[in-house]
Amino acid sequence: MSDNFDAIVIGAGQAGPPLADKLTRAGMRVAVIERHLVGGTCVNTGCMPTKTLVASAYAAHMARRANDFGVVIDGAVRVDFERVQARAHQVTMNARNNLQEWLRNMSGCELIEGHARFESPTSVRVGERMLNASKIFINVGARASRPPLDGVDSVPTLNNTSMLELRELPDHLVVIGGSYIGLEFAQMYRRFGARVTVVEKSSHLISREDVEVSEAIEQLLAEEGIEIRTHAECIRLAAHKDGIAVNVNCESGEPEVVGSHVLLAVGRTPNTHDLGLDRAGVKCDERGYIEVDDALATNVPGIWAMGDCNGKGAFTHTAYNDHEIIAANVLEGANRRVSDRVLAYALYTDPPLGRVGMTLMQARAMKRRLLVGTRPMTRVGRAIEKAETHGLMQIIVDAQSHKILGAAILGPGGDEAIHGVIDMMNAEAAYPLLQWSVPVHPTVSELIPTLLNELQPVGE
Ligand SMILES: Cc1cc2nc3c(=O)[nH]c(=O)nc-3n(C[C@H](O)[C@H](O)[C@H](O)COP(=O)(O)OP(=O)(O)OC[C@H]3O[C@@H](n4cnc5c(N)ncnc54)[C@H](O)[C@@H]3O)c2cc1C
Repeated sequence: MSDNFDAIVIGAGQAGPPLADKLTRAGMRVAVIERHLVGGTCVNTGCMPTKTLVASAYAAHMARRANDFGVVIDGAVRVDFERVQARAHQVTMNARNNLQEWLRNMSGCELIEGHARFESPTSVRVGERMLNASKIFINVGARASRPPLDGVDSVPTLNNTSMLELRELPDHLVVIGGSYIGLEFAQMYRRFGARVTVVEKSSHLISREDVEVSEAIEQLLAEEGIEIRTHAECIRLAAHKDGIAVNVNCESGEPEVVGSHVLLAVGRTPNTHDLGLDRAGVKCDERGYIEVDDALATNVPGIWAMGDCNGKGAFTHTAYNDHEIIAANVLEGANRRVSDRVLAYALYTDPPLGRVGMTLMQARAMKRRLLVGTRPMTRVGRAIEKAETHGLMQIIVDAQSHKILGAAILGPGGDEAIHGVIDMMNAEAAYPLLQWSVPVHPTVSELIPTLLNELQPVGE
């Protein structure tokens, strides 16, 4: 049985459904194939449930801090972990159901459940069905990587998906990997009441960020009682009478940590191994990411790749932007490029880190003259008023062109405040334009013009 479509979308993640919407509105007959859960990682096991959990963790944290604000809570603050998990599940279910309804009712679109595998550059098999189209868009996402650690298969381990299925709070959660996903889980579980240890092989947590930012995050997590073990170059796992022993081999501290649960949060692997890409002739790099050009086209004409599987971004907003680029180019004859994208993201610890463009480390590597403005949150009125003074804000400017190269805001509302800088960078405006803006008081954002008034030259 063979079905002909104008376009096939493989994967109903963050890029596939909105692309199907635009293609069908343009009059195309589109098949969207999803093998598991509509909404992909973000809706089901990523952004949405984790940010819902971060909100519960924040509520617990603020309840424990109530006294700092002159608020009296009679009795102990307790976390009902099952209800916390149920709330996250409900938020996910609502989003997934809405998305599913949208796709099912989309005129011109057929949502097909099953695993898609290429048979040729223009045909895809799903079970017994063979689908054909001259345009195929791959949106298969990524999954948690399983590192080849010594002993990893001899003990039970968790990933971002199974963490959401826990019904009981771990006694001691050991998080292997001190980057974005690991740190969000670490802080929320600590706030839910678990003992938490983060094991990281680099010298700092989130080592891609500037050291000042990493150190500020390490400090705030340590103050909440999270144990941090960096320089863990030789991680080994083994069964232990009290749970799971993680050999961390760090420079100082106990060489072994014994946890009740171990979360592996050491990166993501693209879902490209079981897609039959060889039958279509689509090339991947050595890590399995689909190779694409600046317009997200693969080496095979008529096949594009968007989202986490193309290695050009690892976020929901980059996946979404991928579909915008492809839709504009394919449907409107535009010439939109990934390289035009100003990369921004957030780390949802509390306080969150909002980031855009280059780190100071990256800017220095360009060997250009730089101007940098930095201010600790202890000197930001809004942070003081909220008694949330961890963190800092920093902005980096090219001394010659006066263009903003990057910024970091770690502090209350840092994920929102960073958008003032994101907008400026997208407008390619020189920094004096922002320097003379009149922001709202009292906000974290109001200090951005002040930072620009206080720029200092930094050496290369
Ligand atoms: C714990 C966690 C927290 C995160 N938090 C954030 C955040 O706060 N902000 C942010 O921007 N990003 C966050 N991310 C990243 C974000 O979830 C991803 O970048 C985003 O979901 C990528 O979207 P995508 O469309 O590329 O892939 P996905 O959303 O993963 O969708 C891919 C879909 O393809 C399907 N599929 C795969 N192979 C096949 C096949 N052969 N046939 C049919 N279907 C197939 C999958 O089942 C899946 O539904 C987080 C990720 C994790 C793990």
